[in-house]
Amino acid sequence: MDPKQVINFGAGPAKLPQAVLLQAQKELLNYSGTGISVLEMSHRSSDFTKIISKTESLLRELLNIPENYKVMFMQGGGSGQFSAVPLNLIGLKKDRCADYLVTGTWSAKAAKEAEKYGKVNIVHTKLDSYTKIPDPSSWTLNPSASYVYYCCNETVHGVEYNFIPETNGVVLVSDMSSNFLSRPVDVSKFGLIFAGAQKNVGCAGVTVVIVREDLLGYGLKECPIVLDYKVQAEMNSLYNTPSCFSIYIMGLVLEWIRSQGGSNAMEILNKQKSSMIYDIINASDGFFVSSVDEACRSRMNIPFRVGKNKGDDALEKEFLDGASKLGMISLKGHRSVGGIRASLYNAVTLEDTEALAAYMKEFLKEHQ
Ligand code: PLP
Repeated sequence: MDPKQVINFGAGPAKLPQAVLLQAQKELLNYSGTGISVLEMSHRSSDFTKIISKTESLLRELLNIPENYKVMFMQGGGSGQFSAVPLNLIGLKKDRCADYLVTGTWSAKAAKEAEKYGKVNIVHTKLDSYTKIPDPSSWTLNPSASYVYYCCNETVHGVEYNFIPETNGVVLVSDMSSNFLSRPVDVSKFGLIFAGAQKNVGCAGVTVVIVREDLLGYGLKECPIVLDYKVQAEMNSLYNTPSCFSIYIMGLVLEWIRSQGGSNAMEILNKQKSSMIYDIINASDGFFVSSVDEACRSRMNIPFRVGKNKGDDALEKEFLDGASKLGMISLKGHRSVGGIRASLYNAVTLEDTEALAAYMKEFLKEHQ
């Protein structure tokens, strides 16, 4: 199919800005006159040093990262960080325990992994379904916890925090894999932020870790060296061969975000796009159903069911088939949730979203 006729609403790996792909294509065989591809370049060469330094300084600029934070480019994906976070931080205090907010699949997985390395306390009553964020006034935070962990945007369930949890001085850790750079964030409120690149800032293979310097050096002795924040920070992410090409692609995406007006502009655009879809859901008289609390509906991932009584499999299949005929792909909901999921990351344009909105309205008219 002609790429111009396809709109990718995938949850990740996800759509990249067209300008980034064209630039990467242009430079694929001969990067900046070096005569070689970034794919072939030594990670210790001066050309790659420029690429990784530029990617880091763009991140620092776009997120206004304070000087006392280290930026690392790690491997192992978001899941690697589910292990790396406790391996490096659960030893911050002698009790070796950590508080977890579990509001969806990804924070649940992170909490389960952390249990291997220390005590995990889930700070709220267990949720029957991942459709809301429990009221902070009901959380029982442990002042002796080494850190408080949450997932800022639950990609599978479409639950997003629009506030930063208050932890009374305990180190705050956040998985921002699926809403990184989709809105401004005050990095100084966090001990650590991590984000896999393959949704909003690039392709799979690299995970950004932003960590406050004073938290380095508390790793458990069994922490694998490639996941050791202190080692990776001291070696500028070059303890071993990093994902060079993915770091290069991230640099191009960050340049593109800057050219669009940075995180403020991304936020305006993402609000506009997500409201367009939620407005249709809300006005559909129960034909399209979002079960997520309005207060925490994600701007990035919008899961919904089609058909009254919370979803009709046949109707949903028809919806997906019709969308696919129009070039709109990867709209199928996560297998654990079913239904439809529209992911509207930074690279999904207003026009892409308008096309989906028009299709939803048409489908509603035909079937209601
Ligand atoms: N965290 C979030 C919020 C995610 O959406 C995902 C994957 O989709 C992960 C973590 C796991 O990332 P990875 O597949 O890179 O390990």
